[in-house]
Amino acid sequence: MPITIGFAGLYMLHRLRGLGLRARAYEAGGGGTWYWKRYPGARCDVESMDYSYSFSDDLQQEWRWTERYASQPEILKYIEQHADEFLVHAVPVDVRAVD
Ligand SMILES: Cc1cc2nc3c(=O)[nH]c(=O)nc-3n(C[C@H](O)[C@H](O)[C@H](O)COP(=O)(O)OP(=O)(O)OC[C@H]3O[C@@H](n4cnc5c(N)ncnc54)[C@H](O)[C@@H]3O)c2cc1C
Repeated sequence: MPITIGFAGLYMLHRLRGLGLRARAYEAGGGGTWYWKRYPGARCDVESMDYSYSFSDDLQQEWRWTERYASQPEILKYIEQHADEFLVHAVPVDVRAVD
């Protein structure tokens, strides 16, 4: 099953590795929709805190959103930092999975 590096893929990778399974992601643009959708004004439409990962207290504590509704650049930074810190040391980016 291909795993990618949007919000869902990062979490899946975290869970699978937490179960002791070997898992690898294949990603055409790390950061998911927030990598691709860069148009002016792009931001989440739920409050930033609610748009955060909640699986780790450490993550919750260390990140400070600068806006109530985070903008695309800040969300992309959030995903990239968490990919670096927790999960994705060996994941190739710019790889496109095919059938
Ligand atoms: C402007 C905007 C605002 C939003 N606001 C909210 C909000 O407030 N609340 C909310 O819940 N949701 C919101 N969303 C929806 C958002 O898409 C989801 O919240 C979430 O980011 C989706 O994550 P995902 O991991 O499921 O998918 P994605 O982020 O879409 O990640 C999928 C990844 O798969 C990769 N991929 C696809 N096919 C291949 C392939 N063949 N090979 C390799 N890689 C591939 C893509 O490159 C992409 O990185 C918003 C979206 C946008 C654009």
